[in-house]
Amino acid sequence: MSQNKVNVNTDYDLVCVGAGIMSATLALLVKLVKPELNILILERLGKAAQESSAAWNNAGTGHSALCELNYTPEKENSIDCSKAYKICNQFELSKQFWSFLVEENLIEDPKDFINPVPHHSWVTGQDNVAFLKKRFEALKDHFMFQGMEFTDALEKMKTWFPLITNNRGEDEVMAATRIERGAEINFGALTEKLFSILETKYNTPVYCNEEVLDIDPDETVEWSVEVKNTITGNKQFLDAKHVFIGAGGGSLLLLQKVEIEGKDGYGGFPVSGEWLVCKNEALIQQHLGKVYSKAGPNDPPMSTPHLDTRFIDGKRQLMFGPFAGFSPKFLKEGSSLDLFKSIKTDNIKPMLSAFWDNLPLTKYLIEQVTASHEDRMNDLRKFVKEAKSEDWEILVAGQRVQIIKKDEYEGGKLQFGTEVVRSKDGSITCLLGASPGASTATHVMLEVFEIAFPEVVNSKEGKEKLKKIVPIWKLELDSKIFNAQLEKSKKALKL
Ligand SMILES: Cc1cc2nc3c(=O)[nH]c(=O)nc-3n(C[C@H](O)[C@H](O)[C@H](O)COP(=O)(O)OP(=O)(O)OC[C@H]3O[C@@H](n4cnc5c(N)ncnc54)[C@H](O)[C@@H]3O)c2cc1C
Repeated sequence: MSQNKVNVNTDYDLVCVGAGIMSATLALLVKLVKPELNILILERLGKAAQESSAAWNNAGTGHSALCELNYTPEKENSIDCSKAYKICNQFELSKQFWSFLVEENLIEDPKDFINPVPHHSWVTGQDNVAFLKKRFEALKDHFMFQGMEFTDALEKMKTWFPLITNNRGEDEVMAATRIERGAEINFGALTEKLFSILETKYNTPVYCNEEVLDIDPDETVEWSVEVKNTITGNKQFLDAKHVFIGAGGGSLLLLQKVEIEGKDGYGGFPVSGEWLVCKNEALIQQHLGKVYSKAGPNDPPMSTPHLDTRFIDGKRQLMFGPFAGFSPKFLKEGSSLDLFKSIKTDNIKPMLSAFWDNLPLTKYLIEQVTASHEDRMNDLRKFVKEAKSEDWEILVAGQRVQIIKKDEYEGGKLQFGTEVVRSKDGSITCLLGASPGASTATHVMLEVFEIAFPEVVNSKEGKEKLKKIVPIWKLELDSKIFNAQLEKSKKALKL
């Protein structure tokens, strides 16, 4: 990534703050459709993709609701599948975009960032087994979930994930589903590839060690972006017609400085994470799959435990987690003052109300911080009965900042999704929240693209180009379109 000096004499059509998967996706989509637009990407760290998008900072799951039970909640005795359909659709859109890049020879080998790994849900206990059966019945005939298998037979599960079934008897009440069509993704490698295309094909490098301090309205253009070089300390101001705040956990603190309607009342609830990573090669080779279980009744959705095969830098890995915890930082490389700095007069009520309403969550997170290595190993032993402490080591994951927003009735509420906050004219957009995350980057960045440049997206040329890049965008999917997309991406992405 470029360390060159940012050109202050240029008016930028778009400045992206932060060099994670979101800015990379947005900048490349814009360049593919309108190469003449002048784009700048500013990153406070010395390299792109070092925060949430880095491989070990997230779980690398291609979220498609194939195994994540929180996308299919049980409501009044029936399973609500609406979120599952939405996420599955959005992930296919991402796969379609990445397939396009491979077909256009912009990405050489997709295996560097995406690999097929079967997705499983696995539960224990009568109630959870009944839930999983119901979920399976609700999904199995839908075209998005064809090929999903269910079993409550130990013998079958032994063939799916032997590491988990070792030393278990027929007396244990368990069930699982499996779908072969799961994906494991190195979002860090993908982000680097997208930035490399931007740099080599579109002369659009990432400027590293450049921290955005403020974004103010400008008399001549739309926005004046104040940037500090984190090595020299030099400050400069850049002109931009559009700004996208894709600063991950850092987005909220920047948004609070921007004078736009509708930004008031937002707060952040930081959640840290850790994994147990396996060091024993024999164990790593015994497991091939992602196995998601069910979070406890009072645990947050991001604490759903899972045992995952990962492919990172050409090496097969095995990890378990996440162990959620509390840290006042908004970024892994952030400051312990982040949470305190984010408290303002306009969000103190929603924040207090959200913290108050979520005391069990706060208590849970604080308890998690104080858990020892052995406590974590005991959680792992619920999956891998004979797990030995010496085979596993702790690794710190990325930081997530969940959104707190005003609520008419409760004062404030905590939400676990993502949200695009925008100025009325679309000249500034900001992505808050962290779930479902990188898997759905294409969907959410197309939304930002259309808000920022409606005249480009809705022009004849724009529509034609986007039809080639992401043909299923905005389409009502049916089994024919969906299956055709699956086949095409399977071939392009070698899945
Ligand atoms: C523990 C964990 C597990 C996850 N698991 C999954 C998963 O399995 N699947 C999935 O799809 N998603 C997952 N996610 C979510 C996913 O990682 C994120 O949604 C995604 O990486 C966010 O990308 P981003 O570009 O918005 O942010 P980031 O990758 O965090 O990038 C933001 C960048 O902005 C920079 N920045 C911040 N402030 C400034 C500033 N003022 N000036 C300049 N630069 C700045 C940061 O240094 C950083 O490089 C997970 C996240 C976590 C934390």
